[in-house]
Amino acid sequence: MADQAPVPTRLTVLAGPTAVGKGSVAAWLRDTHPEVWISVSATTRAPRPGEVDGVHYHFVSDAEFDRMIADGELLEWAVVHRTARYGTPRGPVLEALAQGRPALLEIDLQGARQVRERMPEARFVFLSPPSWDELVRRLVGRGTETEAERERRLETARAELAAEAEFDVTVVNHTIHDAGEELIELMRS
Ligand code: 5GP
Repeated sequence: MADQAPVPTRLTVLAGPTAVGKGSVAAWLRDTHPEVWISVSATTRAPRPGEVDGVHYHFVSDAEFDRMIADGELLEWAVVHRTARYGTPRGPVLEALAQGRPALLEIDLQGARQVRERMPEARFVFLSPPSWDELVRRLVGRGTETEAERERRLETARAELAAEAEFDVTVVNHTIHDAGEELIELMRS
């Protein structure tokens, strides 16, 4: 948006419970604020319908993920929902920051903790649901997981909600637009 002040250089980490809408807020930011660089994670999980390799994730094999860890290519990584590994390629993050671009990582809580250790100067934003019931509704509403998978994700979400106090700031995701606007304001401040 040409009439607004440029976003200063800063690494922002967006985390929060599963299905709270982190991905949707990040997608909104990608569409409306192309000046923000958004990390593309590597993952060992299979693509969902519509997901494009290199755009939504780098979909890699277990062996390739092992290699990335061994070669120190990941800024952080974690097993999420006890099913697949996800990690942030380090090089592109450093390149984006070196180019003066504001950068966003949309990752899980375990990953956020690792980034806090390695890059404590980053800003840590917790995206929270308006309520627990709303979080459950969003989780079920997505309809892409099996019952067992949903239960696993709810279990993860309960633990993740308790971690809010570890974060610099909380954004409540009432709507994607409002949460996105709040996030971009934080990235500017
Ligand atoms: P999904 O499989 O639904 O795309 O993502 C599952 C979870 O993995 C989400 O909570 C998302 O934030 C997390 N995630 C995605 N990329 C990364 C990453 O690079 N590192 C970590 N630690 N978590 C990630």
